[in-house]
Amino acid sequence: MNVREPNPDLFEIDVTRIPGVGPQRAARLARLGISNVAALLFYAPFRYEETAHTADSLAGEGQISVAAVVSGPVSVRLRGKRSMVYVPVRVGARELRALFFNQPYLRHQLSVGRQVRITGRYDSKANTLIASRCDLRKDDPMDTGLLPVYRVTEDLPVSALRSIVASALRAFGSQLSDDLPATLRERFKLIPLPTALHQLHFPADAEALRQARRRVVFEEFLKFQLRMQGFRRWRLNVRRPLLHDDALRQGARAFVEQLPFPLTRDQEAAMSAVLSDLAQERPMHRLLQGDVGCGKTAVAFAAAAAVARAGWQIAYMAPTGILAAQQLGEARKFLNVSGLRVDGLFGGQPTAHRRTVASQLADGTLDMVIGTHALAAQGLRFDRLRLVIADEQHRFGVGIRKMLREKGRQVDVLQLSATPIPRTLALTLHGDIAVTTIRELPPGRKPVRTRWLRQSEEAVALKLVRQELSKGHQAFLIAPRIDSDPEGICLESVQALYERMTEELAGWRIGLIHGAMPEADRDQTMQSFAEGKIHVLVATTIVEVGVSVPKASVMVVYGADRFGLATLHQLRGRIGRGAAAAECVLLADPTTDAAAARLRTMTETHDGFLIAQRDLMMRGPGEVLGERQSGLPEFAVGDPIRDFKIMEVARDVARELLDGDDFWLLPEYGRLRAIVLSEYDVHSDS
Ligand code: ADP
Ligand code: MG
Repeated sequence: MNVREPNPDLFEIDVTRIPGVGPQRAARLARLGISNVAALLFYAPFRYEETAHTADSLAGEGQISVAAVVSGPVSVRLRGKRSMVYVPVRVGARELRALFFNQPYLRHQLSVGRQVRITGRYDSKANTLIASRCDLRKDDPMDTGLLPVYRVTEDLPVSALRSIVASALRAFGSQLSDDLPATLRERFKLIPLPTALHQLHFPADAEALRQARRRVVFEEFLKFQLRMQGFRRWRLNVRRPLLHDDALRQGARAFVEQLPFPLTRDQEAAMSAVLSDLAQERPMHRLLQGDVGCGKTAVAFAAAAAVARAGWQIAYMAPTGILAAQQLGEARKFLNVSGLRVDGLFGGQPTAHRRTVASQLADGTLDMVIGTHALAAQGLRFDRLRLVIADEQHRFGVGIRKMLREKGRQVDVLQLSATPIPRTLALTLHGDIAVTTIRELPPGRKPVRTRWLRQSEEAVALKLVRQELSKGHQAFLIAPRIDSDPEGICLESVQALYERMTEELAGWRIGLIHGAMPEADRDQTMQSFAEGKIHVLVATTIVEVGVSVPKASVMVVYGADRFGLATLHQLRGRIGRGAAAAECVLLADPTTDAAAARLRTMTETHDGFLIAQRDLMMRGPGEVLGERQSGLPEFAVGDPIRDFKIMEVARDVARELLDGDDFWLLPEYGRLRAIVLSEYDVHSDS
């Protein structure tokens, strides 16, 4: 069974079925990742604009437009051919009069209780709104107190998206079925889903919005928790053949002994925690977190060497093909020595080679494979897989769960993360996962010197870049993406920056990568940069994860106020990986205090833990561009930090449901149950 949430049916309905959406708009929606009605309805605004609904709006100068309710009988005065219609109205909590000239027919339309939108000028002395225009308000979902603001692209303005959402709500809002049973809704006083979605997009007021979010977020989090906890229970039910403790230790030791450096104390501790997990009958699920460069790979490889020595196979999942290739290089250097047979499986390899690797995994010739999420593919068979190492998983465990469903729940999991989060948070988010943290960096690390300059001081940054280039070093220039900028603030696009730099930095070879390029082109450029064939790489945050370019010693981040702390810190981690001192320049003219605080934090500290903590504290919704939420799971509406209280409730409810009988037996839990069962289902791809 293939369970999609939250509303299977609306996921099947193409956006072109929404009145007012043709192929062109559909294509534009697709660029926002919206292809069906459900995706649209769950595309939550990231903030709201107050419309002229409250009495406050009367304070505006000149023409104003307010929503009002007729609050008393209309009176008409005639003077010759001219007429004046007086209408008592209520705007917010304020009573006033609206005055219309020469529109006597209004008397018949404006009965008490009628909702209208009046445009005109407010005379505060006379407490009268001298109206130039009166619109009768129908049951229009867009006519509310708060107007939604969405992330959009340049060719799909917010106003257009608003009307598409309104149209979808009108056409499909009543078809939304509720996955939460009435018992849960009543117990937690949650409003029905159709109302919630309506209010999420077009809230009547702040309280309505709060109730709407609470409802939608609870459902999201509950499903997340059911999935995580359900999956965990399914895994814990399995018993496996025990591995030979001595073999494990010998394998790890052999690997560690041939490293050119001793492990740090934290690495040692992490390694022994992992080794003792590997020897258990129950499958391991351990999160190994630590700042960029703290040496997680060595710990992961030690685990791999141990498992291989004990006679089992290892799969190492990297987030991208380039990183997989880079890790394969490391593995060949350090793991082959201990007799471990390793190969890679990723894009760009000749088909014949891929076929060989696949067959060697199936017949057991290979001990270890390094690749991307594609390792979870159906049809790739292992002879005796025992350990999955998942490096830099941004998509919280989805790849891992798929891997285990495909290859067997008995497999051990070691998850690596460079964006540390507090243990309590990790436990709530991952279920009862084991967490190991490496705090110590290997000795001799020089922190990247970080400066914050105004955009107008770009010349200073470029001077530094030229200096470094002339020493034979390399440079990163990072631009924020402009295509998802909802405010239309003019930030230079990555393409424009690239073109300008080909002139500014004439004589140096300059490369460009961004998310809209084909992956193969991106990989090739990245590869050339890593090999030093390109001197300057102009890029978006796509370079954020992992790739190591030892000669890169300088980075300039344009519009740095638009990035979140976690992103900035990850970006900065791309340089200073070699011997040379490295410097990072943040160019920014921040418009908010929060943004300025982020920039200051970056210049003050290099401690990934401190930064992660501040990031969690300071994160305002929707303030930064395309932020990948510091290694946290992503939700359509909920924010695991801001809405942590709801997450805790969801966690407890999920536990209670899974422990009880009702959940497994009663039809009203069918939809939620299906989500848990799909985690147990070997060939589900949800
Ligand atoms: P990350 O935790 O970001 O994955 P890596 O495992 O890539 O970090 O390690 C970063 C660099 O530090 C690598 O070049 C690695 O060889 C080196 N390194 C790891 N552990 C040590 C150590 N104990 N002493 C010295 N260098 C180390
Ligand atoms: Mg790493």
